[in-house]
Amino acid sequence: MRLMKKYADENNVPIMDTYGLKFLLNYIKRNNVKSILEIGSAIGYSAINMALVDPEIVVTTIEKDEVRYLEALKNIKRFNLEKRINLILGNALDIELEEKYDFIFIDAAKGQYTKFFEKFSPNVKKNGTIISDNIYFHGLVEQKERIEKKNLRQLVDKIKEYIIFLKDNEDFDTEFFKVGDGLAVSKRKDEVNENIDNAK
Ligand code: SAH
Ligand code: MG
Repeated sequence: MRLMKKYADENNVPIMDTYGLKFLLNYIKRNNVKSILEIGSAIGYSAINMALVDPEIVVTTIEKDEVRYLEALKNIKRFNLEKRINLILGNALDIELEEKYDFIFIDAAKGQYTKFFEKFSPNVKKNGTIISDNIYFHGLVEQKERIEKKNLRQLVDKIKEYIIFLKDNEDFDTEFFKVGDGLAVSKRKDEVNENIDNAK
């Protein structure tokens, strides 16, 4: 783990921080999550950590950058997790997955979170969860004063749009947590709807 952190640090790879990761791993443990889809593997740090929570956990993770993909492949082998972590090289928006997962972790290009959510929400099992990382984006999302750089401003606007999208989403209930760089926990509402249907 220390080697991966060092590599990430030296190569500016934005892996999860300790607090965000702890929250994520606790969530997986407490909710008995067994199948995970991750968008944005980087060097495999979060995927490996998630897989290590329980020997029954299986992770599919997508990374579009080839250098990071190769580094992730190396790390997954080092931890002997090739059988439980399925690493895919490519742009997640171009990849079709049939399988349904207990849990999806979105941690890729922040400008495209709504697209990731819309594309992959059908792959969440009933009562499953989507967690999105970097929802506070280093505090910038809540910052009132003008952000100087145009690109950055646009990105912050995109994240704000995503937060509104989550709040308005009728199929998922979302809670926001100020842990790490900000996490949104969105739960599918199927069970509640089913009970209402059954009661009719
Ligand atoms: N989850 C990792 C960190 C991911 S950093 C960890 O905590 O260890 C975000 C990664 O998402 C980057 O490596 C970036 O290349 C990748 N990414 C961005 N947009 C993507 C896309 N559309 N499809 C797949 N990967 C993407
Ligand atoms: Mg992140």
